[in-house]
Formats: sequence, structure tokens, C-alpha cells
Amino acid sequence: MIPVTKPHLPDKDKYKSYIDRIYDSGFVTNNGPLVRELEERLADFLGVENIILVANGTLALHTSIKAMSLAGQVITTPFSFAATSTCLKWEGLNPVYADINKSTLNIAPQEIEPLITDHTSAILPVHVFGNPCDTLTIEKMARSNGLRVIYDAAHAFDVTIGGRNVLTYGDVSTLSFHATKLFHTVEGGAIITQDSEMASNIRSMINFGLNADRIQQPNGTNAKMNEFEAAMGLCVLDEYQNIKEARRNIWSVYRDALSCHVDFQELHDDATPNYSYAPILLKTPKERELVMQALLEQGIQPRRYFHPSLNTVFESPQSSECPISEQTADRIICLPIYSTLRVDEVRNIARIVKQAIGR
Ligand SMILES: *Cc1c(COP(=O)(O)O)cnc(C)c1O
Repeated sequence: MIPVTKPHLPDKDKYKSYIDRIYDSGFVTNNGPLVRELEERLADFLGVENIILVANGTLALHTSIKAMSLAGQVITTPFSFAATSTCLKWEGLNPVYADINKSTLNIAPQEIEPLITDHTSAILPVHVFGNPCDTLTIEKMARSNGLRVIYDAAHAFDVTIGGRNVLTYGDVSTLSFHATKLFHTVEGGAIITQDSEMASNIRSMINFGLNADRIQQPNGTNAKMNEFEAAMGLCVLDEYQNIKEARRNIWSVYRDALSCHVDFQELHDDATPNYSYAPILLKTPKERELVMQALLEQGIQPRRYFHPSLNTVFESPQSSECPISEQTADRIICLPIYSTLRVDEVRNIARIVKQAIGR
């Protein structure tokens, strides 16, 4: 069986040495020493000023939305994982869907502008598969309309645009460190903001709104990362360059083998890819079905990321039509990519794909 992804399990002895530290200190959660160490190392590695580690990527979104007191409508992309929309619904906000660009697969800025009304409070784009959005256009639009910008950057660990980390754009960016993501802490996530006051507020929010045992603010919740998760993150971070290199290799084997046969996501000119996913776009839904079948017959499990288009799931009368997102959802699949996948297995997967579409 070859799954679409496998969590990277770091060196066991190193993980055990961190577990020993936890047993020695007795500190298992509540902003313990390993969470603080991981925060510092990530801030340094990513080149960001404020990073707050949390329990998962979904809570990172919830907490950010609350921290900015958003209300009414939020313009977002229909081509994403369910969490991008459910966090809005859960916070009593209405997602308003703007269609995507058919090449970059990110929210199309020119589709956003006509949807802005007096009820709009923010824009929530996703850097889909780690490919950065058109941040400059989106933020210019947000500024001139008094809107906040939250990037769901769940896929965009270690991505830079012209040398600047993509997480430094917008009011807030959120990461997911779920086991299936490029860098992981089993379950986990992070909130990144350039605004130190907001960062301090968020730090208190994720711990019941407390600050030095006083209630600093009323929107408290429990979104803390624990020490065992931070230990995993510290070990995975040590091996990150090897993880990325292995994935880069796999990604380029797919590209070389399939570039004449399928379409690929168009990547941002000035950005560094992180090889977090291996999406391919088939010409038609029928072709996509044939490829899925052929792979499944051989014990290979591609995933339909993202399917279905979220505008077909969550009611949103204020949205425009999203034909590009719906068509994309019908013809895209993500091929297996993970650090221990062998190159001969990758070549075999590419061969099955080509055969299935008869080329
Ligand atoms: C994984 C993911 C999330 C949710 O992150 P969790 O850590 O699983 O809660 C949110 N948005 C996108 C785009 C994701 O891929």
C-alpha cells in the first residue's frame, strides 16, 4: 500500500531524549520549556517576529478570527480544506466565495473586489499547496477597503517570496503542524503576526484569557500545545532539510515524467516551492476517474485534494459563481509524496498515470 502521505517519524532515540527531559522536569504542558524552545527555533528558522504555538491549525484560525473581532462577511476561497470555511461558520461569520485563478489555484484578486460590501470585514485566502497568493494585490485591496487579511498558510511552511517569508504578509498567518503536513508536531499549529500587541493578546487568549493569573481579556479558550508535541517538532525540525530534499527529488521525478501529459499548478515566479503536495490536473473528470482507478488497483492511494469545491457545500447566497473551482475540484488529484517514498515507486506511479490516460 502506498498512501498519499506518511507522517515523518524522526530518530526515536532523539525523541526519547526529549521525553526524558519531560519526565525530569515534570512539565507536560502550559507553555513549558520545550514549547518555548520550539517557538524560538521556529521564529529564527522562519524569520518571523511573533509566533505562537497552538494545539492545531483549526484553532489557529479560530483564535485569529476572534483576536481581530471580525463580524459579518469574510471573502474566502472555495478551493481549500473544509477547515478554512468551518472556522468562519463556527465563529458566526458568513463565508463569501470568490472564484480561483485556474492556473495558480489561489483566490483570484479580481474576483474579490466585486464581492466587497459594507458587511465585509476580512479576506481569508489560502496559499494553496504552498504556492503563495498574489499578496500585493490582495493587501492593496484590503487596505483601500479597510479590511483585515488572514492567510490560511497551513501548506506554506518554509516558503519565501523574493527572500521574505510568506508568513510575514497580512495581519495574521496561520500554520498547521498536523502529522500529514510538511513540518509536524503530531497535532499542532501556529499563529504568526507582525503586530506585537495582537501577539500578546493571542498568547493570553490561548490560555483561557489569562495573563499572570488575571483575566486579561474575555475571549479566552484553551488552544495550548503540549510538551510531547513540541518534542516531536524539535526532532522533526532537526531533520527538516533532509525531508525537504527527499520531497524535492520526488516532485521533480513526477514533473519530468508527466509534464507532457498532465497540467501542473502554475507556481509564483518569485517564490521558493516547499514540495508539500504533488497535485496533477487531468484534462477531464473522466481522465481523473481513470487515473484514480488505475492507481487504486495497484494499491496506490491518491487523494482528491480539494474536493468538493466548498461553495457547493456551505450555503453562501452572497457568493459569486465559482465554475473554475468546481471544474478544478473535478479533475485534480494529489499523488503520493513523503520522505520515505522511493524513487522507483515514484517512477512506477508516474508510469501508471500515463498508461491510464493512454499516452
Ligand atoms: C490541514 C489544514 C487545516 C487544518 O489544520 P489542522 O491542524 O488539521 O487543524 C486548515 N487549512 C488547510 C488549508 C489545511 O490543509
